[in-house]
Amino acid sequence: MTALWKDILHNEQLIQDVAAIAVDAALLEGVLMRTEEDSNVSDVVNFAPFTLLPSPVPSTLFEQAYAVQQDFNLLVDAISQNAEFLEHTLASTIQVDAFTAQLFKIHKQVLKEGLAQSLILGINRSDYMFDHGEEGSPALKQVEINTIAASFAGLTSRTTAVHRHVLNILGKTKEASTLMYNNPAKGLAMGIAKAWELYGSDRAVVMFLVEDIQRNIFDQRCVENELWNRNVQVIRRRFKDVFERASLNEDRRLFIDGQEVAVVYYREGYVPKNYNKQNWEARLLMESSKAVKCPDIATQLAGTKKVQQELSQPGTLERLLPNNTESVARLRATFTGLYALDMDKEGDKMIAMAIADPDRFVLKPQREGGGNNLYGENLKQVLEKTKDSPERTSYILMDKIKPQPMMNYLLRAHSPLKISECVSELGIFGVYIRQGKDLVMNKHVGHLLRTKAVEHDDGGVAAGVAVLDTPYLI
Ligand code: ADP
Ligand code: MG
Ligand code: MG
Repeated sequence: MTALWKDILHNEQLIQDVAAIAVDAALLEGVLMRTEEDSNVSDVVNFAPFTLLPSPVPSTLFEQAYAVQQDFNLLVDAISQNAEFLEHTLASTIQVDAFTAQLFKIHKQVLKEGLAQSLILGINRSDYMFDHGEEGSPALKQVEINTIAASFAGLTSRTTAVHRHVLNILGKTKEASTLMYNNPAKGLAMGIAKAWELYGSDRAVVMFLVEDIQRNIFDQRCVENELWNRNVQVIRRRFKDVFERASLNEDRRLFIDGQEVAVVYYREGYVPKNYNKQNWEARLLMESSKAVKCPDIATQLAGTKKVQQELSQPGTLERLLPNNTESVARLRATFTGLYALDMDKEGDKMIAMAIADPDRFVLKPQREGGGNNLYGENLKQVLEKTKDSPERTSYILMDKIKPQPMMNYLLRAHSPLKISECVSELGIFGVYIRQGKDLVMNKHVGHLLRTKAVEHDDGGVAAGVAVLDTPYLI
């Protein structure tokens, strides 16, 4: 186990005192969330959960994650333009997963109509864990890539200052000074602002498509306010507003409440519960419009777990990124074992393996937002139940990444302070813009470190499991 901060970790009085100071710092810096009870007003807010101390991250893996981000941007972009690949890859999934099927249907429909907009804005976050493996030196392994509504760029931009303060209070000024500048919120805003500018209408606005329940609004406000600082107007609307009041003009420009929308930035729309019949209609309207969609529906599909699994198949990366062997090698190095559960011999074999050794694997449905994957005994039960039915193809199987745990304190409102054995997940934010055939922007714009107690298999800050953290490079 990593011994970072071991001189203070067990000094209970000191930890109590510093935790109180850390919470005040978080409130001052704006590391905030609305409460579960008052999720749509800011009268009562609390600090978003975070670690007391920054967690160790091997610098070589941190650099590797940054170095591969532009490759992931290229890859997602290539997939989103490859209708044949999406169709082929998702063919069996859409037979059994109604949500993916509905997204796919809209994708086909807009392709048939002809795309109204050739500008694409992609914002994604590629997530990794540090697999300890057998050899002992950790390896960077991708958990997944999020191509829609990737969150916490805002709050993470403010978390570093909290940890810097904590380290200073603890007399660790040298360590404090090494914490890196990190402002992905600015990077996201830069991408959105560029897409807005290329759309080319001064009076048009950026529309954040937001959820009915908006607990994580401060994270979004960080990006929003950066846009206002660049004189880009932002409005916030829900699917319901779009359904009731949005329309397209004769050249398919999107209007709502008398304003033209240049960019739709989705912070909603990634899970089935976000949709009813009217919301699907609203999605189709936006998708058919001339507004720049972040992401468009093809890019959302490119982020499915099924696509991730297909990418790990021999030859797939080479086909998607021809003549780009360096990118392919960098991408492949981050993959762990991913397996399809098709109705064939190979699928049967994997299911038998997973039932025999469930702790080696994670079983993943086509869902987002944390809390959907199956592990251990649950994984075994679901596979036993579905193994003879095509339903099994709605999942993919993945090797479980096994990071080395370390000790930290997870600070949460109304929770007692206790030391926990933890593991971390590093995310890198990528932003790119394509205009017709030209990639006019391709950047990595910052990182997010989330840490959770080892007793939780699944993650997610919004899901109430992981907390915000800052990497301390070792
Ligand atoms: P989601 O889209 O719901 O966030 P993820 O693939 O990120 O789905 O899985 C959710 C969480 O489950 C991750 O944050 C991580 O904590 C855990 N997890 C997912 N895949 C693996 C894996 N292969 N090995 C270990 N943990 C995993
Ligand atoms: Mg996800
Ligand atoms: Mg995830």
